[in-house]
Amino acid sequence: MLKRLIKKLFGGGTSPQSSGGFFLNVRCSVCGEVFNLFINKSTDLAQNFDERGGVTYFLNKEIIGSHCRNLINVRMEFDANRNLVSRKIENGEFIEL
Ligand SMILES: [Zn+2]
Repeated sequence: MLKRLIKKLFGGGTSPQSSGGFFLNVRCSVCGEVFNLFINKSTDLAQNFDERGGVTYFLNKEIIGSHCRNLINVRMEFDANRNLVSRKIENGEFIEL
């Protein structure tokens, strides 16, 4: 009885998309400048179709600061539910706030 109630409350499979986006916080490895970019999961992610017809998502971001000419390259990959599965960065580092 209780179990059934809990299932009802939290739904099965109809949970809303996890909040619209997230902050990408990175630091330039040359001058230390910090960037806080808001990534909107519904508009900023690009689709990637695999050979079996599935869809995954990815984000490529190039960031140039105002203090130096270092080009920071961010690549993030997401699964079909737009959950982050991997991320890479060149010329900078991710910061956890
Ligand atoms: Zn810099």
